[in-house]
Amino acid sequence: MLKIALNECRIVFKIKTEGPLLIKQDLDSESLEKRNILNDYMRFYNVRDKKDLPSIGFVRTMRNDRVVPYIPGSSLKGVIRSYAERIARTLKGTTDGTCNPFSKIEKDKQGRAKRSSIGDDLSCSDKFILRKEYIKEDLDSYKVYRDACPICKLFGCNFLKSRIEIPDGYSDYTSAPTYSNQFVRLPRRHGVGIDRFTSSAKSGVLFNYEVEEENKVFSFNDIFLTTFELWQLGLLGYIFDDFKDQIVKLGFGKSRGLGKVSGEIESISITYFGRYKPPDGKLMGVGKLINDNRYWHKDFMGTEEINLSHCPPIISNGFRHTYKFVTSEQKEALFGELKKLWSAEDDTGFINSVYTLPHEMSKDYFLENIPEDKLV
Ligand SMILES: [Zn+2]
Repeated sequence: MLKIALNECRIVFKIKTEGPLLIKQDLDSESLEKRNILNDYMRFYNVRDKKDLPSIGFVRTMRNDRVVPYIPGSSLKGVIRSYAERIARTLKGTTDGTCNPFSKIEKDKQGRAKRSSIGDDLSCSDKFILRKEYIKEDLDSYKVYRDACPICKLFGCNFLKSRIEIPDGYSDYTSAPTYSNQFVRLPRRHGVGIDRFTSSAKSGVLFNYEVEEENKVFSFNDIFLTTFELWQLGLLGYIFDDFKDQIVKLGFGKSRGLGKVSGEIESISITYFGRYKPPDGKLMGVGKLINDNRYWHKDFMGTEEINLSHCPPIISNGFRHTYKFVTSEQKEALFGELKKLWSAEDDTGFINSVYTLPHEMSKDYFLENIPEDKLV
């Protein structure tokens, strides 16, 4: 399933700062010194005294001969994933719709798993470790995809590749002021350190940090999904709504009013390959295209084929067949339908009425099947 492309989706997504934003890079001089890069950073910021470096800088990278601030794709992916987890928990309770990636098995010195650490919310990665190493199950890629929680199915875990790739977000800094070495200059703010805010500034100590100011637009070209089920796009649709409504915050210092952003989809294209071309106006997920029950528990597949209103024509180019949704009418109709496949008001949708936690991923299954001498 992962080796051949059946469908893919590309989303051009823009994030606009609605207030100061800081995606953190720790510039604590002690740690820079340890890493042997203090002099480099003093040169970048054009300062002679290390005290004049910002305590916390904005992450930067080289682009078009300038060193520019950017939003790493991994930061955005982390935020989107935790929003997806929150949505799943809201709809399905704390353990049934998503695992908790931070919930890990604890072991004693002999490597026995502690019973108390095995809960229903255990991360999928650790559940698969229990199945593979403790129960000695033959765990193939079908079982892993079939049994992973909905959030890991989309964002991946140690046993499963992520379906979604999020590139770094860039903005236009061609006319922005720079220090002498093309290192883009950002405004600085001053604060009084609180340990929670920064590990580098001690409580009560003045420190300063860089921010990007409001109305800066960062473009993510493209957020990429491959071999997707339709409900996965529906789940993303809810998260994009939250971005639009400025509910999602990004980066550092959220409790201090930093990180307010809005997000908007500029365009979305959905491509099918070769013989998988759907009839005009129809959208199909991988569950419809692949027709292999080993990837899904019986009855655990969502609706994988829908008819769309306001659907643009499908354009074929060789073996690629693409819908491109550009107008707001097209985008709204698309996500309106897709969101219902994840969760609809009448209590239908994948998370409401299709998905349930497989028995093989439950606490009961582990406690029944792990041999006694491997448990403590
Ligand atoms: Zn999971």
